Amino acid sequence: MIDETPGEAAVGSVFDPERPESTYLLEPELVAPLVARISSSQSAGTHRSTCPFTGGPLATIPVSSSADVTAAVERGRLAQRVWARTDLSVRSRVLDNLARIVLVRQSEVLDLIQLETGKARRSAFDEVGDIAQVARHYAVKARRYLSTDRPAGMIPLVTGVRVQRRPVGVVGAIAPWNYPLTLVLSEALPALVAGNAVVVKPDPQTTLTALWAAEALEEAGLPAGLFQVVAGGRETGEALVDAADHVAFTGSTEAGRKVAARAGERLVGATLELGGKNAIYIADDVDVDTALPGVVRACFASTGQLCLSAERIVVHEAVADEFVAKLVRDVRNLRLGAGLDYTADVGSLTSAAQLTKVSAHVDDAIARGAVVLAGGVHRSDVGPYFYAPTVLDDVPSDALVAREETFGPVVSVTRVRSDDEAVAVMNDSEYGLHMSVWSGDTARARKVADQIEAGSVSINDGYVLTWGSVGAPTGGWKASGLGRRHGRSSVEAMTQTRTVVTARGAGRGLGIETVFALEGAAPSRILSAALEGMRKLRIP
Ligand code: NAD
Repeated sequence: MIDETPGEAAVGSVFDPERPESTYLLEPELVAPLVARISSSQSAGTHRSTCPFTGGPLATIPVSSSADVTAAVERGRLAQRVWARTDLSVRSRVLDNLARIVLVRQSEVLDLIQLETGKARRSAFDEVGDIAQVARHYAVKARRYLSTDRPAGMIPLVTGVRVQRRPVGVVGAIAPWNYPLTLVLSEALPALVAGNAVVVKPDPQTTLTALWAAEALEEAGLPAGLFQVVAGGRETGEALVDAADHVAFTGSTEAGRKVAARAGERLVGATLELGGKNAIYIADDVDVDTALPGVVRACFASTGQLCLSAERIVVHEAVADEFVAKLVRDVRNLRLGAGLDYTADVGSLTSAAQLTKVSAHVDDAIARGAVVLAGGVHRSDVGPYFYAPTVLDDVPSDALVAREETFGPVVSVTRVRSDDEAVAVMNDSEYGLHMSVWSGDTARARKVADQIEAGSVSINDGYVLTWGSVGAPTGGWKASGLGRRHGRSSVEAMTQTRTVVTARGAGRGLGIETVFALEGAAPSRILSAALEGMRKLRIP
């Protein structure tokens, strides 16, 4: 049965400025068993997370020292040896169970996600839906992704080739705060089903959600030691990069470069999912009313703190006036709110730092001549970090908001005269994560999509269908990342191949050594004839 009970904390009523401790919104009985799961010797101090809805304290989290991280990786390595030999059907069943559990227990984790990130519940549900999707996908497809390949050998028939996939060992997953359930699990699940152990380092602000994921995986049947959580910030992350056998990093481009360099020193793999400056193109044959709900969601879901969300709208001048007028109307109608229920469309920014950055980007654009069509103000009347969904026009190309990732509820509009101009504007960015193209003519939209420099392009959809198509790779071009996530890509990144080649018939005089044993130029002549024959027969 799915527990659809809305969260118990009506956030506004719990906050009591006379009693600061009352802003610990979560019951200690709920927090204590979660926090007890952290791999920490309690020697490295604590971190106090903040509830974005109130600005008050949410939980006190013991930080993991470098030694704690190393110990967690070692524990993982021991557990992994047994797990890698455990039948794949057992490993897959854990994921299948998780896909069910995350739906059944959704109200608990939705509360945690909202309280840690400040996002609206409908955006929090994106994460629940995503994990149900990813877990089911790998439960079903793992056998195919992990199966032994049998490519053609050097000499047909007498060379047998088997390419096996084996887990790398312990995967270190480092995640940001914006999608705290999705981003601790979406790489961990393919890692686990492939026979790895995982040590996760969530952002300090969103540790509780990661701990809930650990609890849910245990309920799903995952043996101890295979999914551990270490807590802390950059230093804890660095210790994990120094110990893991593969690093799955999601976060900023700046930190991603450092993680890649560190992993490179150790010659361990790193997949990097980084920042973006995503754009939406609205062609002149679009039905504006049909497109708008998806466009608005693409810009403001998760308060714009979503790696795939759009911060630039490029609109054909023929529909620009109608589109912009209706966009502004719909954006002004978005409901902001802090409730643990489905009444709000848009929630809070996650931290004071995010509020500072978003305000700075908007103020800079205004100072350079941009026009605010909607929003552009801090909504402290709703909560300390709320910022009104914002639409900017006439943004000059040297404004921060034109080039840098804002990571907030701010979108700027640019008018173009043709598809070619739209492609040029969209590609004019150091980033290349995700773009979307909206047109009444799918063939035309595909032609535009084919010229986009990004890891994914949605047609007539903001991001939902692309992110949810978990069998297909996603990731970034340019400064948006390295490596790919989802589908076969994640499994390939977190396994290593072992190629076993058998000389068939060697004992019966049919092997290559029989040819090499011949005198003089005979071996070269025979091999030359064989190679030419294989070329003519188009043998791969
Ligand atoms: P961040 O890079 O500051 O932090 C991300 C995580 O890395 C945190 O857990 C942090 O503690 C850790 N970390 C930071 N520096 C580290 C280092 N040198 N070594 C090891 N770990 C380190 O990112 P943020 O600002 O908190 O998150 C927002 C960013 O994440 C945005 O740029 C957003 O676009 C990006 N993001 C990308 C994707 C994607 O799939 N491409 C998804 C979500 C978020």
